[in-house]
Amino acid sequence: MTKISYHVARRKMVEEQLIARGIRDSRVIEAMEIVPRHEFVQEALAPQAHNDHPLNIGEHQTISQPYIVATMTEALALKGGEKVLELGTGSGYQTAILAMLADKVFSIERITSLSNKARQRLHRMGYQNVTLRTGDGSVGWPEEAPFDAILVTAASPGIPEALPEQLKEGGRLVIPIGSEEQQELFLVTKTAEGTQKKSLGGCRFVKLVGQYGFPEEKTGS
Ligand code: SAH
Repeated sequence: MTKISYHVARRKMVEEQLIARGIRDSRVIEAMEIVPRHEFVQEALAPQAHNDHPLNIGEHQTISQPYIVATMTEALALKGGEKVLELGTGSGYQTAILAMLADKVFSIERITSLSNKARQRLHRMGYQNVTLRTGDGSVGWPEEAPFDAILVTAASPGIPEALPEQLKEGGRLVIPIGSEEQQELFLVTKTAEGTQKKSLGGCRFVKLVGQYGFPEEKTGS
Protein backbone atom coordinates (compact mmCIF):
# COMPACT_ATOMS: atom_id res chain seq x y z
CA MET A 1 0.00 0.00 0.00
CA THR A 2 1.22 3.50 -0.75
CA LYS A 3 1.14 6.44 1.60
CA ILE A 4 -1.83 7.83 -0.32
CA SER A 5 -3.94 4.73 0.27
CA TYR A 6 -3.15 4.76 4.03
CA HIS A 7 -4.52 8.26 4.04
CA VAL A 8 -7.66 6.96 2.36
CA ALA A 9 -7.82 4.01 4.79
CA ARG A 10 -7.73 6.42 7.74
CA ARG A 11 -10.49 8.58 6.29
CA LYS A 12 -12.64 5.48 5.73
CA MET A 13 -11.91 4.24 9.27
CA VAL A 14 -12.95 7.60 10.71
CA GLU A 15 -16.16 7.75 8.69
CA GLU A 16 -17.34 4.16 8.94
CA GLN A 17 -16.11 3.16 12.41
CA LEU A 18 -16.13 6.42 14.37
CA ILE A 19 -18.55 9.02 12.96
CA ALA A 20 -21.15 6.42 11.89
CA ARG A 21 -21.13 5.01 15.45
CA GLY A 22 -21.59 8.32 17.19
CA ILE A 23 -18.11 9.72 17.92
CA ARG A 24 -18.69 13.49 17.88
CA ASP A 25 -15.60 15.24 19.30
CA SER A 26 -14.08 16.90 16.23
CA ARG A 27 -10.61 17.03 17.82
CA VAL A 28 -10.64 13.27 18.44
CA ILE A 29 -11.82 12.64 14.88
CA GLU A 30 -9.11 14.91 13.48
CA ALA A 31 -6.35 13.30 15.56
CA MET A 32 -7.37 9.83 14.43
CA GLU A 33 -7.39 10.97 10.83
CA ILE A 34 -3.87 12.38 11.17
CA VAL A 35 -1.94 9.84 13.30
CA PRO A 36 -0.48 7.12 11.00
CA ARG A 37 -1.92 4.05 12.75
CA HIS A 38 -0.16 1.65 10.32
CA GLU A 39 3.22 2.80 11.68
CA PHE A 40 2.34 1.43 15.14
CA VAL A 41 2.12 -2.22 14.04
CA GLN A 42 4.63 -4.62 12.49
CA GLU A 43 5.12 -4.02 8.78
CA ALA A 44 3.40 -7.28 7.84
CA LEU A 45 0.22 -6.18 9.66
CA ALA A 46 0.24 -2.60 8.35
CA PRO A 47 -2.36 -3.27 5.62
CA GLN A 48 -4.78 -4.42 8.39
CA ALA A 49 -4.06 -1.50 10.71
CA HIS A 50 -7.34 0.30 9.96
CA ASN A 51 -9.60 -2.74 10.27
CA ASP A 52 -12.39 -2.75 12.84
CA HIS A 53 -10.60 -4.86 15.47
CA PRO A 54 -7.56 -4.95 17.76
CA LEU A 55 -4.24 -6.22 16.34
CA ASN A 56 -1.34 -8.15 17.79
CA ILE A 57 1.69 -6.02 18.74
CA GLY A 58 3.84 -8.87 20.13
CA GLU A 59 4.41 -10.02 23.75
CA HIS A 60 0.75 -11.25 23.74
CA GLN A 61 -0.48 -7.64 23.75
CA THR A 62 -2.70 -5.72 21.34
CA ILE A 63 -3.27 -2.26 19.88
CA SER A 64 -6.93 -1.45 20.65
CA GLN A 65 -9.70 -1.33 18.04
CA PRO A 66 -9.99 2.21 16.54
CA TYR A 67 -13.54 2.70 17.89
CA ILE A 68 -12.44 1.83 21.43
CA VAL A 69 -9.52 4.31 21.20
CA ALA A 70 -11.97 7.00 20.05
CA THR A 71 -14.57 6.17 22.74
CA MET A 72 -12.04 6.28 25.56
CA THR A 73 -10.38 9.44 24.28
CA GLU A 74 -13.70 11.25 23.75
CA ALA A 75 -14.76 10.38 27.32
CA LEU A 76 -11.71 12.23 28.66
CA ALA A 77 -13.11 15.46 27.09
CA LEU A 78 -9.64 16.92 26.46
CA LYS A 79 -9.46 20.59 25.47
CA GLY A 80 -5.70 20.96 24.96
CA GLY A 81 -4.19 22.16 28.23
CA GLU A 82 -4.30 18.93 30.21
CA LYS A 83 -1.70 16.77 31.89
CA VAL A 84 -2.63 13.16 31.14
CA LEU A 85 -1.49 9.77 32.45
CA GLU A 86 -1.87 6.60 30.37
CA LEU A 87 -1.38 3.09 31.75
CA GLY A 88 -0.39 0.56 29.08
CA THR A 89 1.70 2.32 26.40
CA GLY A 90 1.72 -0.81 24.22
CA SER A 91 2.38 0.31 20.64
CA GLY A 92 2.24 4.00 21.59
CA TYR A 93 -0.73 4.66 19.26
CA GLN A 94 -3.12 5.81 21.99
CA THR A 95 -0.24 7.82 23.48
CA ALA A 96 0.18 9.65 20.15
CA ILE A 97 -3.56 10.44 20.00
CA LEU A 98 -3.43 11.83 23.55
CA ALA A 99 -0.30 13.83 22.70
CA MET A 100 -2.21 15.58 19.90
CA LEU A 101 -5.08 16.51 22.22
CA ALA A 102 -3.45 17.44 25.53
CA ASP A 103 -0.49 19.48 26.77
CA LYS A 104 1.60 16.70 28.37
CA VAL A 105 1.28 12.92 28.32
CA PHE A 106 2.93 10.49 30.73
CA SER A 107 2.61 6.82 29.83
CA ILE A 108 3.70 3.66 31.65
CA GLU A 109 4.28 0.20 30.13
CA ARG A 110 5.36 -2.87 32.08
CA ILE A 111 7.00 -4.71 29.16
CA THR A 112 10.39 -3.17 28.42
CA SER A 113 10.59 -4.22 24.73
CA LEU A 114 7.20 -2.61 23.95
CA SER A 115 8.09 0.55 25.85
CA ASN A 116 11.40 0.83 23.98
CA LYS A 117 9.75 0.37 20.60
CA ALA A 118 7.04 2.91 21.41
CA ARG A 119 9.71 5.39 22.58
CA GLN A 120 11.63 5.05 19.30
CA ARG A 121 8.46 5.42 17.23
CA LEU A 122 7.12 8.45 19.08
CA HIS A 123 10.56 10.09 19.00
CA ARG A 124 10.91 9.45 15.25
CA MET A 125 7.46 10.94 14.65
CA GLY A 126 8.44 14.05 16.57
CA TYR A 127 6.15 13.93 19.63
CA GLN A 128 7.84 16.16 22.19
CA ASN A 129 5.18 16.26 24.91
CA VAL A 130 5.35 12.56 25.81
CA THR A 131 7.29 10.99 28.68
CA LEU A 132 7.45 7.19 28.91
CA ARG A 133 8.33 4.98 31.85
CA THR A 134 8.76 1.22 32.14
CA GLY A 135 7.21 -0.40 35.22
CA ASP A 136 3.98 -1.22 37.04
CA GLY A 137 1.52 1.55 36.21
CA SER A 138 -1.17 0.23 38.53
CA VAL A 139 0.39 2.41 41.25
CA GLY A 140 0.12 5.48 38.99
CA TRP A 141 2.91 8.05 38.69
CA PRO A 142 2.93 9.88 42.06
CA GLU A 143 5.88 12.16 41.21
CA GLU A 144 3.93 13.71 38.31
CA ALA A 145 0.48 13.78 39.98
CA PRO A 146 -2.05 15.33 40.00
CA PHE A 147 -3.40 14.68 36.49
CA ASP A 148 -6.41 16.15 34.67
CA ALA A 149 -7.11 12.79 33.06
CA ILE A 150 -6.02 9.16 33.46
CA LEU A 151 -6.58 6.50 30.81
CA VAL A 152 -6.11 2.81 31.58
CA THR A 153 -5.80 0.75 28.39
CA ALA A 154 -5.70 -2.66 30.11
CA ALA A 155 -8.40 -4.57 32.01
CA SER A 156 -8.42 -4.08 35.77
CA PRO A 157 -10.27 -6.09 38.46
CA GLY A 158 -11.23 -2.79 40.16
CA ILE A 159 -10.18 0.84 40.36
CA PRO A 160 -6.55 0.89 41.54
CA GLU A 161 -6.74 3.06 44.68
CA ALA A 162 -3.81 5.26 43.69
CA LEU A 163 -5.52 6.50 40.53
CA PRO A 164 -8.40 8.65 41.90
CA GLU A 165 -5.89 9.99 44.45
CA GLN A 166 -3.68 11.17 41.58
CA LEU A 167 -6.53 12.97 39.77
CA LYS A 168 -7.31 16.67 40.14
CA GLU A 169 -10.78 17.60 41.37
CA GLY A 170 -13.00 17.52 38.27
CA GLY A 171 -10.50 15.13 36.65
CA ARG A 172 -11.55 12.10 34.61
CA LEU A 173 -10.44 8.48 34.70
CA VAL A 174 -11.40 6.01 31.98
CA ILE A 175 -10.86 2.36 32.84
CA PRO A 176 -12.10 -1.10 31.79
CA ILE A 177 -13.18 -3.03 34.90
CA GLY A 178 -14.11 -6.69 35.16
CA SER A 179 -12.76 -10.20 34.75
CA GLU A 180 -9.91 -11.31 32.52
CA GLU A 181 -12.43 -12.33 29.85
CA GLN A 182 -14.93 -9.45 29.84
CA GLN A 183 -15.08 -5.91 31.18
CA GLU A 184 -17.19 -2.78 31.30
CA LEU A 185 -15.63 0.55 30.38
CA PHE A 186 -16.16 3.20 33.08
CA LEU A 187 -15.77 6.96 33.20
CA VAL A 188 -14.92 7.95 36.77
CA THR A 189 -15.12 11.65 37.60
CA LYS A 190 -13.50 13.04 40.75
CA THR A 191 -15.73 15.47 42.64
CA ALA A 192 -15.36 17.36 45.93
CA GLU A 193 -17.46 14.61 47.60
CA GLY A 194 -15.66 11.62 46.11
CA THR A 195 -16.08 9.93 42.73
CA GLN A 196 -18.93 9.41 40.24
CA LYS A 197 -18.97 6.37 37.95
CA LYS A 198 -20.68 6.07 34.56
CA SER A 199 -20.70 3.01 32.31
CA LEU A 200 -19.61 3.43 28.68
CA GLY A 201 -20.49 -0.17 27.70
CA GLY A 202 -18.88 -3.58 27.40
CA CYS A 203 -15.35 -4.16 26.16
CA ARG A 204 -12.48 -6.62 26.12
CA PHE A 205 -8.89 -5.66 26.90
CA VAL A 206 -5.68 -7.52 27.71
CA LYS A 207 -5.15 -7.52 31.46
CA LEU A 208 -3.49 -5.00 33.72
CA VAL A 209 -0.83 -6.98 35.55
CA GLY A 210 0.56 -5.56 38.75
CA GLN A 211 0.09 -4.60 42.37
CA TYR A 212 -3.45 -3.26 41.84
CA GLY A 213 -4.18 -5.29 38.71
CA PHE A 214 -4.25 -9.05 38.08
CA PRO A 215 -1.44 -11.22 39.45
CA GLU A 216 1.37 -12.15 37.09
CA GLU A 217 0.96 -15.65 35.61
CA LYS A 218 3.48 -18.19 36.75
CA THR A 219 5.44 -19.67 33.85
CA GLY A 220 7.15 -23.06 33.86
CA SER A 221 6.45 -25.74 36.44
N1 SAH B 1 -2.64 1.75 24.50
C1 SAH B 1 -2.06 0.61 23.82
C2 SAH B 1 -2.81 -0.65 24.14
C3 SAH B 1 -1.87 -1.64 24.68
S1 SAH B 1 -2.58 -3.10 25.37
C4 SAH B 1 -1.94 0.86 22.33
O1 SAH B 1 -2.52 1.83 21.82
O2 SAH B 1 -1.23 0.11 21.66
C5 SAH B 1 -2.30 -2.84 27.08
C6 SAH B 1 -0.87 -2.70 27.52
O3 SAH B 1 -0.88 -2.58 28.94
C7 SAH B 1 0.03 -3.89 27.20
O4 SAH B 1 1.11 -3.45 26.42
C8 SAH B 1 0.48 -4.37 28.57
O5 SAH B 1 1.80 -4.86 28.61
C9 SAH B 1 0.33 -3.12 29.42
N2 SAH B 1 0.21 -3.34 30.87
C10 SAH B 1 -0.41 -4.35 31.53
N3 SAH B 1 -0.30 -4.18 32.86
C11 SAH B 1 0.40 -3.03 33.04
C12 SAH B 1 0.83 -2.31 34.20
N4 SAH B 1 0.57 -2.72 35.45
N5 SAH B 1 1.52 -1.16 34.02
C13 SAH B 1 1.80 -0.71 32.77
N6 SAH B 1 1.43 -1.35 31.65
C14 SAH B 1 0.74 -2.48 31.78
